[in-house]
Amino acid sequence: MLTGQIEIIQASAYLFASILFILSLGGLSSQESAKRGVLYGMAGMFIAIASTILGLLGKGVGADAYTYIGVSIAVASVVGIIVARKVEMTGMPQLVAILHSFVGLAAVLVGYGSYMDHMEKMLDTNFALSHGGAEHIIHLVEVFIGVFIGMITFIGSIIAWGKLDGKIRSKPLILPARHAINGLMLSACFVLGYLFCMAGTVDDGMLYLYIMTAVATYIGFMMVMAIGGADMPVVVSMLNSYSGWAAAAAGFMLGNDLLIVTGALVGSSGAILSIIMCDAMNRSFISVISGGFGDTPVASGDGPAIEGEVTATNHTETAELLKSANSIVIVPGYGMAVAKAQYPIHDMVQKLQKQGKKVCFAIHPVAGRLPGHMNVLLAEANVSYDIVLEMDEVNDDLPETDVVMVIGANDIVNPGALENPSSPIYGMPVIEAWNAKQVIVMKRSMAVGYAGVQNPLFFKDNTDMLYGDAKDSVDKINAELM
Ligand code: NDP
Repeated sequence: MLTGQIEIIQASAYLFASILFILSLGGLSSQESAKRGVLYGMAGMFIAIASTILGLLGKGVGADAYTYIGVSIAVASVVGIIVARKVEMTGMPQLVAILHSFVGLAAVLVGYGSYMDHMEKMLDTNFALSHGGAEHIIHLVEVFIGVFIGMITFIGSIIAWGKLDGKIRSKPLILPARHAINGLMLSACFVLGYLFCMAGTVDDGMLYLYIMTAVATYIGFMMVMAIGGADMPVVVSMLNSYSGWAAAAAGFMLGNDLLIVTGALVGSSGAILSIIMCDAMNRSFISVISGGFGDTPVASGDGPAIEGEVTATNHTETAELLKSANSIVIVPGYGMAVAKAQYPIHDMVQKLQKQGKKVCFAIHPVAGRLPGHMNVLLAEANVSYDIVLEMDEVNDDLPETDVVMVIGANDIVNPGALENPSSPIYGMPVIEAWNAKQVIVMKRSMAVGYAGVQNPLFFKDNTDMLYGDAKDSVDKINAELM
């Protein structure tokens, strides 16, 4: 095939893949269309890879390159299939975080390679004559910014993985004068960027690039370490956005239009998600992305002493309570994912609905460990979408609700978020379960949630604790509801 024809086919395929990616994002915006969205994404990615490989034909790449690409795709596919089959739903947030880190690392490596390749070509006088000047500087700026964003994404995502996996403490690491140090580091990057663009030899250029990579490592590390457990949902969506910008930067470096479009789609949708998460948590976006700047309250453990006594109940009493109730709201949280309780919960809902009771789910935007975590689990258990409501749709109706069942949730139903200014989750809107006539909390102990604070809801007069694994508890209640 002629080079010109290949270019036309490739450009058309890229356009088609971009449209499929946009349709994929649109599909993922609701549970009903999510499966279709994933299929669009898979088709788009297949076309993207196939047309990129086809494009190499036009560039006269040797047979070796195809062997490397084939082996890489085979190894990556096997690893991807094994990991996707093995990972539990509770491990999904960590998997997403680590996948973001790969995009960051790829951008760094593409940056290094692209710089060396470009400089080698610059040694060719003809090339220098035709591509020198502004185009040369623009390429160097692309490389510098790409490596910078890539390294921050890489390190930040690894720290986020550690925090989500419990390997790194979720408490924020706040250094004195951290903003001054970060400002200094950022200024150093501007100076290094200038020196890099002016470097006369590849060795000098690489030296500046390596120093900047070390500085970006520090910035990425401190940025995520400074963010407390309660703000982690924003970090996850923000790193998702960064990974998109890192991919777009790699697209600029490689001159690949599809990578630029795809990266920009991921970058901007991640940024929108971050803003939605900030709104849901009543946090300022700037304060979170700059590493807990300003108004994020610090967990102190001080604050008003919790009043009231904890009372426990059992499965028989809970089943009786449900039988006598007319309206029931279920609030699922991370513990539901751990216990895999969504399946028996679906059975319970069906039994209660058959008895003529009004049942719905109240979903908090940051419930679980991933945006949309609870929706995915409930969809997996075939819970009807029309009874899965958002926090804002439910809160006003809670005073007229007979029973709220909190299943493996903690921070998202913590009244301290509204009442205790020293709480790390202060200011975050929560599901106001305590306004219902009776609350049942299913969890295994009095242990704290992800934000590390005790929950005054458990001590309220109208709250009873039903201790035990959530799946086990729901199974036992189901047996009594027969
Ligand atoms: P929490 O982490 O606050 O609480 C979960 C509760 O589940 C724990 O207190 C635990 O108590 C209980 N639990 C654990 N295993 C089981 C089990 N097998 N059976 C019954 N209960 C169990 O979760 P929430 O969903 O309420 O809140 C989410 C938190 O995670 C928020 O702080 C949010 O900011 C944060 N976060 C959210 C992200 C997101 O994107 N959604 C990302 C990162 C963090 P016990 O051990 O006593 O059983």
